[in-house]
Amino acid sequence: MHFARFPRVRFAHLPTPFEPLERLSKHLGGPRLWIKRDDCTGLATGGNKTRKLEFLMGDALAQGADTVITQGATQSNHARQTAAAAAKLGLACHILLQDRTGFTSRDYTKNGNVILDLLCGAEIHRHGGAADMNIEMDALAKDLRAKGKKPYVIPGGGSNPVGALGYADVTMELVGQANAKGVKIDHVYLATGSAGTQAGFVVGMAALNSGIPTMGISVKQERAKQEADVFALAQRTEAHMGLSGVVKREHVVADSGYVGPGYGQPTPGMIEALKLLASLEGILLDPVYSGKAMAGLIDHVRQGRFAKDSDVVFIHTGGAVGIFAYLDTFESNA
Ligand SMILES: *Cc1c(COP(=O)(O)O)cnc(C)c1O
Repeated sequence: MHFARFPRVRFAHLPTPFEPLERLSKHLGGPRLWIKRDDCTGLATGGNKTRKLEFLMGDALAQGADTVITQGATQSNHARQTAAAAAKLGLACHILLQDRTGFTSRDYTKNGNVILDLLCGAEIHRHGGAADMNIEMDALAKDLRAKGKKPYVIPGGGSNPVGALGYADVTMELVGQANAKGVKIDHVYLATGSAGTQAGFVVGMAALNSGIPTMGISVKQERAKQEADVFALAQRTEAHMGLSGVVKREHVVADSGYVGPGYGQPTPGMIEALKLLASLEGILLDPVYSGKAMAGLIDHVRQGRFAKDSDVVFIHTGGAVGIFAYLDTFESNA
């Protein structure tokens, strides 16, 4: 893996810290839990999309773009990080936000990520739950081209083979940190949604021949569909990297037992996970992704899936500003 071959703009704060979760591990009675702080990548409160955007924005600039377009749910962390990256690079930014939860509170529709999109200078276009967001993005791109602009379209979540490079790259960083600390990683947990994070990660872990298994906790759809999406993107990502046959179907494992009623819908496990991490570690998870992923990890610990002396790493993918969109949820459960 040699990522200097790909266009890239550097704005992430890297490497992100790799730290023990001592009080959480003690509270749960083992295994040793560790956290990879990809919530600290630095771009307008950071998160996992920043690593993808280094490659996506590099590609946009290489193609001479002056405008970027992307889409996501109303409280999209990806949209917010894209708006911030575009601001830093002096590109115009159009964000298409889709209502995927039906939540109508002022906090949900305007606070959290949304106010940050606006502060970063992005133009927001709102769409209903039934819209085909790829068609909407293409229509806007066509419009802008007719006006003489050079738009670059970034898929939802930045999840294509270019964006996924960011999460193949992180595997070298994480395994290097673990080697330096003498931590033998037994399992890695992360949230999986639009699939680019897990796809890039499993390609990187396989290319390193690390032997470290990854568990993706699904935040929106059932296991078979999520695994199929991740595996398909992983195969396209390795091809983009000039590799073939590296990632195997069995490397892709997801668990959809923690989605609850649906994408962005709070669950008791998510609320418990946010409270535990905040009160024991001073770490803020988010209600949509990392909170549900941590709920899955905590439940797997309680099921006794890990030996007490094993080392399990949680990738914190960011999103804590989403807490401010869920004031109702946390106020009534604080
Ligand atoms: C987007 C996102 C994820 C999921 O990453 P995908 O690449 O979309 O699967 C996880 N956590 C947070 C906070 C995110 O914003």
